[in-house]
Amino acid sequence: MYYERLLRIFNSNKQLFNEFPISLVAQLDDFIVLTYSLNRKYLSPFQFANYANIKFNVALKFFMVFASEEVFDMIYYFDCSSSQCKSYIYLSKEDLEDIDNVIYCDECDKSYKISDIVRFIKINFTIKELNEEMDNWLFDDNCTYDVLKRSSPSLKVQSPSSSGSQFERGEGDKKQELKNEVTLEEVVAQNELNNEPIIKQLRSISAFIHG
Ligand SMILES: [Zn+2]
Repeated sequence: MYYERLLRIFNSNKQLFNEFPISLVAQLDDFIVLTYSLNRKYLSPFQFANYANIKFNVALKFFMVFASEEVFDMIYYFDCSSSQCKSYIYLSKEDLEDIDNVIYCDECDKSYKISDIVRFIKINFTIKELNEEMDNWLFDDNCTYDVLKRSSPSLKVQSPSSSGSQFERGEGDKKQELKNEVTLEEVVAQNELNNEPIIKQLRSISAFIHG
């Protein structure tokens, strides 16, 4: 579905082209379809690592470069410290550009300085524009079946409707595999390829954490 677009970006982005095997593009395309066909809102780099049989840090970098290319959105959020507040506090990339920036909880108006909450910020990845064609296509069972057929053997055995256990198998750290979100610290730790930052807005935070 997204293959052509992903491939075009892959071929024109130095960081992708030099650092990752091209076979990951088809796997990412299949993974996107599979994720949405299971009605999952977020694309998990942990699950992609498992799916493509690559290391988590490689999967995360791969996701981050596609986020920098506007294929994925990275949704930054954290929990207000007040237990009465129900919704997350969301941050923009611009909020993160300077660790002295201050953000507010919409519910209780409490203010937070970025530098004080860096350790608590988490990130979800979504596809930037889930187009209509994709929407219809995703929920067509035959197409889902095709994707599952092409998927790794362990994914074949379960039908797409079986409740959410698709990704929960495999080796490695179980706790990590089940996660959808990654932490900002994990992202900052991987925010470099060939001595260039992948997500430039995170420079200030990176310096803050490592400096
Ligand atoms: Zn609050």
